[in-house]
Amino acid sequence: MDVAFHCPHCKQELEVDASAAGQTIQCPTCNSEITVPQPEVTNIHTHGGTIATSAAAKVEHHFTVPVHEGPAEVLIKRVQKEEEVVAEGPKKIKVRIFRHTDCVEVGRDRYEEMVSAFLNKIGEENIISLTPLSYNHIDIATQKILIDYALQIIYRG
Ligand SMILES: [Zn+2]
Repeated sequence: MDVAFHCPHCKQELEVDASAAGQTIQCPTCNSEITVPQPEVTNIHTHGGTIATSAAAKVEHHFTVPVHEGPAEVLIKRVQKEEEVVAEGPKKIKVRIFRHTDCVEVGRDRYEEMVSAFLNKIGEENIISLTPLSYNHIDIATQKILIDYALQIIYRG
C-alpha cells in the first residue's frame, strides 16, 4: 500500500510505500527533506485503535471498580444471611454448667434460684438434657479439697 501525499515544498504529488511512513525522504523533485505522512486509512485506524484501546482501558477500569465493590457487597450479604440463619434457622445446641460454688454469694446459696432462672429463660422445650456433675474444688477458707456438685444443661438457644 502506498501513501499518496504532496511535497510540502514543491507540492509534487508523491507516492511512497506505507512502510516508509514517518521516515524522512528526499523529495525527488525539489530534493527537500520531507517526512512521509502516515497513510490516511492507517492513520484513522491507528487513531481509532488508540481511542479504542484507551476506551477499553477505561471500560476495564470501570469494570474493575464494581468488581472490587462486588465482593464487598457479597460479603455483607453473606454476613446478613448468616445473621438471618442464626435468627430464623434452627437454634444451636449449647451447654451451660452451673457449679454450686459459683452460685454462692457471701454465704448465701443462690444455686437453685440461679438455675431455675436460667431454665425458665431458655424454656422447657429447649432443654435437651440435665446432667448432675460433681467436681473438686479447694475451699479458700479451709484450703481443703471439697467435692461439690454442678448441673450441666444442654439446651437449644
Ligand atoms: Zn518537493
